Amino acid sequence: MVQIAEVYSSLQGEGRLAGTPSVFVRTSGCNLRCSWCDTPFTSWNPTGTNRSVTDVVEEVLNHRLKHVVITGGEPLLSPEINLLCSRLKESKQHITIETAATVIPDDGPPAANLMSLSPKLQSSTPAPETGWQRRHEDRRRRDDIIQRLRATPSQIKFVIDSPADLDEALLWLGELGIRPRSSEARHVYLMPQGVTLAQLQKETDWLYLACESLGFQFCQRHHISWFGNTRGT
Ligand code: SF4
Repeated sequence: MVQIAEVYSSLQGEGRLAGTPSVFVRTSGCNLRCSWCDTPFTSWNPTGTNRSVTDVVEEVLNHRLKHVVITGGEPLLSPEINLLCSRLKESKQHITIETAATVIPDDGPPAANLMSLSPKLQSSTPAPETGWQRRHEDRRRRDDIIQRLRATPSQIKFVIDSPADLDEALLWLGELGIRPRSSEARHVYLMPQGVTLAQLQKETDWLYLACESLGFQFCQRHHISWFGNTRGT
């Protein structure tokens, strides 16, 4: 069984496959509690329905698209994630997994065509009064897991809210062996933080210029401009 918050079809809004019609399978449950989480119904207040893998695969295939995005929450926490992905792969689906890259299933990384890693910077850590500050901070950085997941074709996306975030991301990438302007840098996406066009625009100009000079990809959150911050899009 997999706890599912929602299954819907839309366009991929971020990263290498932006604009690709895809079915989104959003699992519920997360080991982190980002202060700016845009899907609190999978983290701060997780909701969803326990569904069988067969049922989820059937719903995905009913959309008759070739791409499926497994997202969350943290999908790699789901006990049957490997079974779900292997069944989707058998059905010839192109699988993207969106993960914060802090956990890995006991039976190894699931089958995927694109591992979309979104490590969380210090600015994601919630306030002490939430009761989650320490747990979030202890769990949010697992370079060993990032490197294992990078064995699958991958992209790395950082949510950037300030120049301090960019400095931290650069340091972190350097420790992962990814240098600006290197061939690997083109698989790094820097994305402004925000769920409104005004919030995104605030960070866009300087971040775009930084990406251009560092050889990273500027990653717009297209789904916000296409659909707004609306569930099911
Ligand atoms: S890792 Fe993702 S789902 Fe979990 S709290 Fe952070 S933004 Fe939300």
